Amino acid sequence: MHIPFLSFKEVNQKIKPQIIAAFENFFDEGWYVLGERLIKFEKDYAEFNHTSHCVGVSNGLDALHLALKVLSIGPGDEVIVPSNTFIATALAVSYVGATPVFVEPKKGTYNIDPNLLEASITSKTKAIMPVHLYGQACEMQEIMTIANKRNIWVVEDNAQAQGATYTGKLTGSFGTINGTSFYPGKNLGAFGDAGAITTNDAYLANKVKILRNYGSEKKYQNDEIGYNMRLDECQAAFLSIKLQYLHEWTTERQKIAGWYNLMLRDVGDLILPEVAVGATHVYHLYIIRTKRRDALQQYLREYNIGSLIHYPIPPHLQNAYVHLGHKLGSFPVAEEIANTCLSLPLWPGMSFAETEQVANVIKNYFHG
Ligand SMILES: *Cc1c(COP(=O)(O)O)cnc(C)c1O
Repeated sequence: MHIPFLSFKEVNQKIKPQIIAAFENFFDEGWYVLGERLIKFEKDYAEFNHTSHCVGVSNGLDALHLALKVLSIGPGDEVIVPSNTFIATALAVSYVGATPVFVEPKKGTYNIDPNLLEASITSKTKAIMPVHLYGQACEMQEIMTIANKRNIWVVEDNAQAQGATYTGKLTGSFGTINGTSFYPGKNLGAFGDAGAITTNDAYLANKVKILRNYGSEKKYQNDEIGYNMRLDECQAAFLSIKLQYLHEWTTERQKIAGWYNLMLRDVGDLILPEVAVGATHVYHLYIIRTKRRDALQQYLREYNIGSLIHYPIPPHLQNAYVHLGHKLGSFPVAEEIANTCLSLPLWPGMSFAETEQVANVIKNYFHG
């Protein structure tokens, strides 16, 4: 049985009639950018995320970039990001001319360690960007306390964790302004690129609206050097439809993760996902760790099972960031995670038989 890393088949089949109808409607109407579908999706997503505002933009990276920009973070400033994040978090910091300062995650949850934050805060630190990595909420209460005490912003990178909570509060609703991504593979994915910021601050939301549209509030009047970072009408229409199913799909992800947790317990040297007290996990990715990662991935490949590594090279070791002067060993926790992590197949609609097959092949690898 071939098991891909990710399949959209089940989800797409389910929503196909609604998507086709929405497309036809969009096509016939002939309004493609900044229209009523975007306004509706922004309202829908703000409601979902328990924030007063959502502003749709072109993708997750642009959302994070604009979030930092409207907080007036720029050259000479420092922004704290986790050392094991996807590169986009650090790129957003670089785009505004600030410097990403890496802080190590906890080895169990893979999320930024609040206990290490204070030591990394300097007089230049303007913001902390917690990343709810793999779908688990960061320890936000602890992070907010430190940020408030030190008078620095929090900008959540919620690209992987739509619907996750910490102490009952949704990720993407803690920070002053937050970014999320609707890249197709994310838990709420468009049929192409899309993203959004979420905030309770009307002024910041409006600033993002201006910047995403050439720095213009009034047509052909430009008050700022803005961008073209808009979210298309058809993607907005599709996202409003998919958002209706997000809770259901999250529950499915959690169910499949639960199967893996049971079936892979005490197998070889496997380390399974650990969820922090107070946090929920929406399993954007199901990560296992093992010293024999590369060989296990090869073995899975031989049995026609897809798997991926998120992420093989931490940001501080990327060529793009050599100028920061970090080296191998600078962030040992991030490096160890990069060398041992493996993401297993998981998507809403994945069957018990498929999950069991993946687990059995892994058991065979370790125990023969
Ligand atoms: C996907 C992702 C982004 C970027 O989103 P795009 O829509 O691909 O630009 C940023 N941060 C994290 C953690 C992501 O997973």
